[in-house]
Amino acid sequence: MNKTGFEYLDHDEWVSKYIPHMINENEIKRYDTHDDWETIRNTSPNLIWTWVTGDMSDLLVPGIGIVNRQEYYICEVPWTDLDEIVLLSTEEECKCYKPEGYPPVIGDINEDGDPNCLDCEGYGLITKYYEKEA
Ligand SMILES: [Zn+2]
Repeated sequence: MNKTGFEYLDHDEWVSKYIPHMINENEIKRYDTHDDWETIRNTSPNLIWTWVTGDMSDLLVPGIGIVNRQEYYICEVPWTDLDEIVLLSTEEECKCYKPEGYPPVIGDINEDGDPNCLDCEGYGLITKYYEKEA
């Protein structure tokens, strides 16, 4: 997962370093990509972070991201380093994962996990969250 040049920041470190707007003391305020777009557009880009969903991980990246964006966050402290990103979650192979998959294959859905697996329920991947639950 480690890409050269990128520095992963712990979610808690991100909160204490950049101070995102909060709804209350436990909940970070989320800005919608559509409903809050005017607010985002009129805010200095270096105060904004974007939650993006990738193939195998969810990330919090500095600036206004468009591709694969989920939500925005506005912080009190401007970011200065575009290579600083927060790892929110990754998809990890379940212990039942088999690249050739498990029968039966229904339609074109070819899950790589055991349909009887209690951990992934047949998905073959487990989402590991790095963000602490509030
Ligand atoms: Zn499994």
